[in-house]
Amino acid sequence: MIVKRAYRYRFYPTEEQAEQLARSFGCARWIYNWGLQQRTEAFYKHGQRLYYKDLAGQLKVLKQAPDTAWLAEVSNVVLQQALRHLDAAFARFFKKEAGYPTFKSRRGDQSCSYMSNAFTFRDGRLTLAKQREPLDIRWSRPLPEGAVPSSVTVTRTTGGKYYVSLLVEADVQPLPATTQETGIDLNVKELVLSTGQRFQPPKSLKRLEQRKRRYQRACRRKVAAAKKALGLDPNAPLPKGTRLPISNNLRQAHRQIGRVMERQANVRRDWQHKTTTTIVRENQVIAMEDLYVQGMTASAKGTAEQPGKNVRQKAGLNRAILDVGFGEIRRQIDYKAQWYGRTTVQIDRWYPSSRRCSSCGHIHRALRLSDRHWTCSSCGTRHDRDLNAARNILAAGQAILQGADALRIHE
Ligand SMILES: [Zn+2]
Repeated sequence: MIVKRAYRYRFYPTEEQAEQLARSFGCARWIYNWGLQQRTEAFYKHGQRLYYKDLAGQLKVLKQAPDTAWLAEVSNVVLQQALRHLDAAFARFFKKEAGYPTFKSRRGDQSCSYMSNAFTFRDGRLTLAKQREPLDIRWSRPLPEGAVPSSVTVTRTTGGKYYVSLLVEADVQPLPATTQETGIDLNVKELVLSTGQRFQPPKSLKRLEQRKRRYQRACRRKVAAAKKALGLDPNAPLPKGTRLPISNNLRQAHRQIGRVMERQANVRRDWQHKTTTTIVRENQVIAMEDLYVQGMTASAKGTAEQPGKNVRQKAGLNRAILDVGFGEIRRQIDYKAQWYGRTTVQIDRWYPSSRRCSSCGHIHRALRLSDRHWTCSSCGTRHDRDLNAARNILAAGQAILQGADALRIHE
């Protein structure tokens, strides 16, 4: 099967390239935010929906206007791609997969994208539009033989590292069929398979989290000191219009936080890929719950009318969910299963996978979240909570594949 696959590499820009990229990031961000504002205003003021072509048509005008003439300094494709990303963000919003698009900040990761008419790729050398030299890329793994990138995205992380992601077409061969089938219980700390395997995120994530918090505390202390030096109350928010002098110390502290977060992201990504590849390779059928992670994480705070219960407890739970990276795990299993000729099946999230005894089908109503083990009052089987759930998920998945519609997700 021919699939589009992204390959990501670190690279080291020359000073000139770094400056040119900084301009491209800035322009891409500005255009994205401008487009978002245009679309929002058009809708609220005139009930009008603007799309990519409406906004892209105005790029020329912007580049000729004295105030925004600097947009001409970067590749036009970079600006067009920023508008396409905005289009995609709106499409996700309309499909209810994401919230309303938000403005991009100059803090955080910066990125911009190029289509094939805005870069050259020859003999493994990638040169971007408006740049003279190819990027100094560390090819940590080879691109597939003869692959030609169809688009390229460049990112500068908060920690100051540069990455380039190349989208290429690759021919993926299905894996030999296997008879093993599995159900996965995606619980807050780990993945538990009905086959008994357990996958937990690396312990180093915890250490990194502690380090990050230490840096964040140091940062807050430095900000408080800077406020004090200006004669302001260190605990009050900064009055509007006031700017704190950014010391080198503070800048360095910010960098350190950025680096730790990057390391966390890398460790997590690595673990997620290894885990999902293993699961897909070893199983022909993979059953998972249709867990609505966004709903689960949003519900802790509750609303003004219905304040959430156990906010503290759930806050810890949310951190853990975000640590395992639920949504990403599901996404990877889905696409890798497709690549390698495996079947995935989704179980309705309201199916009582935890409370049902996988041996006799009895529903154990008294089960609490804190019960890690329980004994079935009907057949006497002693259960590990997650393993039992995983077995139920597999059974439900197999029933769906045999045509039991009642267990399918209700949309
Ligand atoms: Zn039982």
